Amino acid sequence: LDVNFAPYINFKGEARGVVVVLHDITEIRRLEKMRSDFVANVSHELRTPITSIKGFTETLLEGAMQDEETCRNFLQIISDESERLYRMIRDILDLSKIEQKRIPLQVSRIHLQDMISSAVAIMNDQAQRKELTITLPTPQPEIYLMTDRDCLQQIILNLLTNAIAYTPEGGAITIRTEKEDQIVKIQVIDTGIGIPEKDLTRIFERFYRVDKARSRDSGGTGLGLAIVKHLVDNLHGHIRVDSIEGKGTIFTVTIPYT
Ligand code: ADP
Repeated sequence: LDVNFAPYINFKGEARGVVVVLHDITEIRRLEKMRSDFVANVSHELRTPITSIKGFTETLLEGAMQDEETCRNFLQIISDESERLYRMIRDILDLSKIEQKRIPLQVSRIHLQDMISSAVAIMNDQAQRKELTITLPTPQPEIYLMTDRDCLQQIILNLLTNAIAYTPEGGAITIRTEKEDQIVKIQVIDTGIGIPEKDLTRIFERFYRVDKARSRDSGGTGLGLAIVKHLVDNLHGHIRVDSIEGKGTIFTVTIPYT
């Protein structure tokens, strides 16, 4: 609580009392803390790939370059880490734009199954490298809805990226769509490693990962689901997650049908 006092003086200049102003600053403090935590997290997260790039470059310059195989391995790591750094900066900028609602919604009429097919086409190479099968939603009944296409496609892409990253080779990913009375439901279902129950409520937080090492190996930035959550909020929708460790995960997005 922020407290301010001021004497209350009447027009004759006589002190008549005290004016006390009480300000509830809990919310301001909370926002300030969130902001400073975010800056601390960002600095820490960015430092990891940079440290690795710096370390491997120095080792190469100090002589490791003589051995061709070592050289190739190190360059691969440097290339992967630069890629991750690039993705991280892109995600941080996206997240801050979305949070400040600086991207106005561009609402148009979209064909849901077509939009999902093109999202899957973008991810197809990645899925094939792990021999994952992706099952598209049934084309019937055709679902048309008024929404922001890029926003919804980004949601699907991020969920698919995770389904691919956290499903072992040979697994299956299924996308289902359903239209109910007032809502459209989209599910991304995988047969992957699943998420422990205690982590389920936290995975939408920025930089929260169940397993940092695994996330890093898969090229993760820890921001994908935070972005998804904000995008779903922007569309006035909901997202929920159900998961069984070792069996798989279901992300269910519902958005109002108009
Ligand atoms: P990341 O870049 O680490 O994947 P996300 O924000 O996209 O970050 O996801 C947060 C964490 O949630 C991941 O690190 C992972 O532990 C977990 N996760 C997300 N999607 C899945 C999934 N389909 N299966 C298992 N775990 C998942």
